[in-house]
Parts: sequence; structure tokens; C-alpha cells
Amino acid sequence: MLKILPPNISNLIAAGEVVQRPASVVKELVENSVDAGASSITVLIEDAGKTLIQVIDDGCGMTPEEARLCFERHATSKISDAADLSSIVTYGFRGEALPSVAAVAEVTLRTRKRGTETGSETVMTPSGLVSQEEAAMPEGTNIAVRNIFYSLPARRKFLKSDNTEMRQIIAEFSHVALCRPEVGVRLVHNKKDVYNLKKANTLKQRILEIEGRDMVKELIDISTSTTIIDISGFVGNPSDARRTPGNQYFFVNGRFFRSPYFHRAVMKAYDKLIPEGSYPSYYIFFSTRPGNVDVNIHPAKTEVKFENETEIFEILTAAVKEALGRSSFIPTIDFDHDSLPDLPAPSRFNYRPSTAPAKSFRSGGYDPILPEPVRMQPVQEQSGTEKYGAEQLDRASAVNGYGEIFEDSGLSGAGAMLQMSGRYLVTTLRSGLLVVDIRRARERIFYERYLRQLDNAAPLAHQVLFPCRLRLTPEKYALLTEDAAQLLQLGFDIVPEEDCTVAVKGLPEGFGTDEEAVRAAVDDLTAALAETGSLNLLKAGIRENIAARLARAAASSGQSGRLSGDEARLLVDTLFSCAEPETSPSGHRCMLVLTEDDIERQL
Ligand code: ADP
Ligand code: MG
Repeated sequence: MLKILPPNISNLIAAGEVVQRPASVVKELVENSVDAGASSITVLIEDAGKTLIQVIDDGCGMTPEEARLCFERHATSKISDAADLSSIVTYGFRGEALPSVAAVAEVTLRTRKRGTETGSETVMTPSGLVSQEEAAMPEGTNIAVRNIFYSLPARRKFLKSDNTEMRQIIAEFSHVALCRPEVGVRLVHNKKDVYNLKKANTLKQRILEIEGRDMVKELIDISTSTTIIDISGFVGNPSDARRTPGNQYFFVNGRFFRSPYFHRAVMKAYDKLIPEGSYPSYYIFFSTRPGNVDVNIHPAKTEVKFENETEIFEILTAAVKEALGRSSFIPTIDFDHDSLPDLPAPSRFNYRPSTAPAKSFRSGGYDPILPEPVRMQPVQEQSGTEKYGAEQLDRASAVNGYGEIFEDSGLSGAGAMLQMSGRYLVTTLRSGLLVVDIRRARERIFYERYLRQLDNAAPLAHQVLFPCRLRLTPEKYALLTEDAAQLLQLGFDIVPEEDCTVAVKGLPEGFGTDEEAVRAAVDDLTAALAETGSLNLLKAGIRENIAARLARAAASSGQSGRLSGDEARLLVDTLFSCAEPETSPSGHRCMLVLTEDDIERQL
């Protein structure tokens, strides 16, 4: 039998699309406040929004009738005829958000229309209107959403950890904060300020307040005006590029959106100016005729469709290129190390020659960046598990196997070691040449080392630094302070301080220790944590993922300058003591062997 769905069911279905998590509620409510012309918006969150999401504004407010009506589906004050649809400048226009929120939570709406004497308090639950009464309050709206998904245990269970949900809330909040510097915005979590951003005079000022002054050394403004689109905003100095994504924002007509396609357009402009695998920050605002862009694809999604996508791609690349050129970073930056004179540079490696007795990691001595070289005998690990013991044996046999291929039985001991452009080591084998990719070799070595450290329950010794203080975004701060003990096990000694600042007191071996390197290491760590969603190292795959990411970071962090002969030899020896010396953790070949046959064939 064909039936029309009862309204509570259809509301629930629509709610599933609009309200996926607490952050979606924050987004809808804050956007409503902006649409209402608020000049100040406060967002109060309890328990990452699971208990309370409250948004207070000084916007136009609603009459008691409007306060009831706004919970009806398709009730909106923002459009009245079809022609309006192509000229929308507000965030909302579907009239779907409030009914969807009320379908999955308890809502108390207090509101007072500008210019009227009293306000009203309307209480809604998923089963409908509970009450409406007069209420004394200032002009504006104060809406509280409690116990989201309380009647839907399956949805509630689906919510992630408080940290993850809070990060999403912070992201939604930041998008609006960036779009509306002229609005004072404040975000409070469990009674503590996350952001308290005064009304800013310029976008730049707002960006600096959000990202923290030391996150953004220099912002270059971009601006282009064409018949198709106007582009404005800021892009980061190439030297500020980070190895983790984070500050990449696109907005169209005041709305945040994601676009891997336009991201490529920006990256194209930075080509060769930043190291591979790093991300420049950008805050790019498109403005176009509303008819030129469809933001209507999905109520809660952030994809948009442009009419002239390919043209905009070109315009965007050109605009960013022009801005970078104008700021004349281009001639001063040269990542092509091959063209630099091949002078020996002070080494960043610090290790004892293999003949000296190696100090134990736990003795408090300085950690060698590379461990004592190849052990020809299987070693009994004191604290090792069964599995670890087996791995150790495998490693030893790998070593023995490889030992035979070198010209001298002391592994790479006696063969001459050549270096090519700081990237490769070349040495002779019994029957040919061995070429080792230095960075990948380091990556493999660190990867196996970090994995072992994670397997061992004992906390790791780490390089002790003169504490380096970093101010972080609240998102990163939350990630890094979630579980200090686990991080310490990895070798990161990070002490939370006030005001989103952490003191970094120790790093795992492999990472450089100047401030830039420490910041990069922390960036990489937060990226690894954000990606895995938790520090639960017992979960399959997470250890590997974190170890691989950190190894990649450490390998490039220390990779500058030439190696001394001893260092080069130690690197090769250590590589061959790895369980899988042939490939880097990301699956690239660490080495190339040219046999005599190969050479003969080529000559
Ligand atoms: P939409 O934003 O798509 O119109 P919503 O369900 O988000 O739909 O809101 C419905 C209506 O409620 C809005 O059109 C607006 O008239 C009113 N409204 C919602 N929030 C506020 C607010 N903070 N201040 C004033 N009016 C509001
Ligand atoms: Mg709305």
C-alpha cells in the first residue's frame, strides 16, 4: 500500500542528511546567526557537543510565531519565489536545518525580535512542541541543543571520541570565522575558551588570530577580477609550507568548500617552490554570480559545482603564480640541490664509530642516530616477545645473506663509498655496484626502529631538547595532549601548557632539533594522529601507519649535507641489518644492484 510518510519519520530521514554529527548542528546554527545579521556569536559546547550545543547571537531574532514556524519543514524567511533561488546570498534557504535538529535532539529556542519588548522560549523534542512561554532576554537568539541522538542509540554510538568530534566542530567554526572577520566569534568547550575572536578589521588579522602568529610568517595577497569569477584572499610564503595539510581553504560566495581539483591548480603555481609532499597554506575566496555555482548538491556536504571549472582552474593558477612572483620568492628558492656545489656540509648525524662500545639507549647517554651496526649473531632481546625474537632471527639471516654479496666480509667495511649529489651512496659488491638511496634507506631504518619501540612496552629514551615552545591550533593541541604516555613511548616528550601551547622536550631519534625541525616533527605527528583517529596503538595497522609516517618525516628531517665516510658505511650496514632492506616502508626501492652482466650489456 502506497502511503505518505508521517511527518516525524520524514523529518528523521531528512535529519540524517543534515545532522550527521554535533559539528553539523554547530554549522547550521552559526550560519543561521550570520544570516540573522549578528555582529557577535558565541558557541558553547559541552562534551564535544554530545551533551550541549548552544549558540547565542545578537541578530534579528524571531517573533513567537516565527519561533514556532521555524521548526516546520521548508519554513524559511530567506526565499519566497523561484527567481530568488538563483540569487541566494544567505547560507540557508531550504528551511531544513532546524526541523532536522529538532528531530534528533531536545531544543530550547529563546529569541527576541529586534525592536520588540519581550522574547519567547520554545521547547521542542523529537515528538514535537513541548511548550512556548514568554521570556525576558536581550534582542537576538539563544538556541540550546541538548543530548543529540538521545532517542537514536545507534546514531549516538556512531559518534567518535570527544577529541574527534570537537575537531570537526572547531573546523566548522573556523570556516565561518574566516568568512566573516567582521563578526566577533567565540567558541567555548567545557567552560574553557577555544577561540575568542574579536571583530577583526581585515581578513588577514582574523587569519593570524586563528592560526596563531607563528603559524603564518607571511601571507601574500592574491586578487584577480575576471568576467567569470573574482578571486581574492591570501596564499602562504613557500617557505611556510608544511608537510601536513591544514590551512587550505576555499570559499565561494562566503561558503567553505572542498575541491581537490582547485587544490591542484594552486599546487601547480607552487610547483618547484616547495618540497615535494608539502602543502602551502591558502585562504582563497571566489566570488561569482550565484547562478554560476551550484552549492545545492547536498545539504551537508561541502562540494560545489562550478559552471566554468576549467577556465577557473587556469585563472586560479595564474593568480597564485602572479602573487608568488610579485613577492619575488621565486628566484631566491632553489630546491634543485643537484646544481649546488657538492661541498661537504657539517653532518647532522651523530653516532659513535662501530668499534666504540655503544651506550645503551636506557643509560641516559646521547642516542646514536644510527645504532651499532650489523650484528652477525642473533641477539636475545631482554624485553622482547616471541614474535620479536623471531623477527630478530630473520634480520640476522638477512644480514648473513647480504654479507656474502659485499667485496669484503666486513660488509661494506672496506669497499670505497662514493656519494652522488647527497642522494645516493655507491659502493662495490663482489660482482657489481650497489647504489643506495640515502633518504629511503633512512626511512626503512627508522621505520623498523619505531615499530620495535612501539612493540616494547618500556618508554623510549629520546633526544632531550632545550624545551621548544610551540603555539598550536586548538585542533592540533587537542590531538597532542590526548595521551601523553603513549606519545612518550614513541619518543615524543610533549608537555601541554596554557593557551594552546606545548613544550616539546624530547623527540624520537632521527628528527632534527632546531625549531623548524621540531615544528615539522610535531606537524608530522599530528598528521599521523589525525589520520589514524586515535593513539590506540594496539589496533591493527595503526602502529605501522604511525611508524611509517614518522620514519618518512625523520628521514627527510635529518637529510641534509653529505655523510662522512663512516656515516655512509654505517648507514649501509644498518640498512642491511633491517628485516626488509630492499624497499622503503612506502614500497619504493632503497637500492639498486648493477651486476657485471648489467654493466657489460650497457657498455
Ligand atoms: P534556513 O536557514 O534554510 O532558512 P533553518 O531551518 O536553518 O532554515 O531556519 C529556519 C528559519 O528560522 C530561517 O529562515 C530564519 O528565518 C529563522 N532563524 C533560524 N535561526 C535564526 C536566528 N539565529 N536568528 C533569527 N532567525 C533565525
Ligand atoms: Mg539555516
